[in-house]
Amino acid sequence: MPTARYARWDGAGRPFELVETPLPSDGLLVEIELATVCGSDLHTVAGHRSAPTPTILGHEQVGRVVATGERVVWSVTVSCGQCRRCTAGRPQKCLLLRKFGHERIDADWTLNGGFATHAVLPPGTTVVPVPAALPAAVAAPASCATATVAAVLDAVPPVAGRRVLVTGAGLLGVTVTAMAASAGAEVIVSDPDPSRRALALRFGAASVVAPSDLPTGVDVALELSGSPAAVAGCLDSLDVGGHAVLAGSVFPGPAVPVDPERVVRNLLTVTGVHNYRPEHLGRAVSFLASHHERYPFAELVAAPFGLSELERAFAATGPALRQAIDPSR
Ligand SMILES: [Zn+2]
Ligand SMILES: [Zn+2]
Repeated sequence: MPTARYARWDGAGRPFELVETPLPSDGLLVEIELATVCGSDLHTVAGHRSAPTPTILGHEQVGRVVATGERVVWSVTVSCGQCRRCTAGRPQKCLLLRKFGHERIDADWTLNGGFATHAVLPPGTTVVPVPAALPAAVAAPASCATATVAAVLDAVPPVAGRRVLVTGAGLLGVTVTAMAASAGAEVIVSDPDPSRRALALRFGAASVVAPSDLPTGVDVALELSGSPAAVAGCLDSLDVGGHAVLAGSVFPGPAVPVDPERVVRNLLTVTGVHNYRPEHLGRAVSFLASHHERYPFAELVAAPFGLSELERAFAATGPALRQAIDPSR
């Protein structure tokens, strides 16, 4: 009988457990080609955010539909399409939301995360084809990092000809830098790490600065680091009519003071972005397909570990921004 293998996670401080299970006969079954370890997986395993257990972590991956052989990526969110949030255009906040790589393993949905040989994609998942020429390491982050970045840029007016500040040069930061630069923006990137600043220059940044030297008079400020100081810096950097998008603050942190008079007198807009709508995943894949040779996306992902080596992948450090898991190994 054909089987799937998955890495069960039982909570912080416990090892991953490899489990074998029969391949399900119903549902959209995909075979996972490569998964990458998102920053939020690292936070979960470190015990900085809660997760239902037992679970299968991993929500950035590329795979093939078993029935058709089509190469695809799919959304983190599974939405009902019917509730008031879905019908208001916010399916990522569906009242019946389920999230791939974030749910308890149960009999109804066992293969529900990316650190596995196979996954089942429930109805309400967005599935997007991936061109054969796109390397798996470049395609895998599309379903979290790249699609979120597409949603971030969708939250502001067109950036062509605008001065855009990006705080945080992790995977999201350098990806949004490449997207905004290729759309014609002048992008200034801030990060405390000089090697990250050097990386941002290779992704199209016009200039880079340390967090103590943030510019003023920018049209758009995109906060992707989650640092409270960077949130305040983004708000302070805006010109009259400026737009700030906060997307990095995805774990609890201290409150950030806001000067309401400055917001009022300077006609500022501040928007929060978390996850993304279906069209953003499509935009993520097409951006990567058309720009992965111009910007060094493939270098951001380390050589893969096997499914039985998740502890090593989670402990790995190094220049790469993402560790990868090849479940066939
Ligand atoms: Zn993620
Ligand atoms: Zn819904």
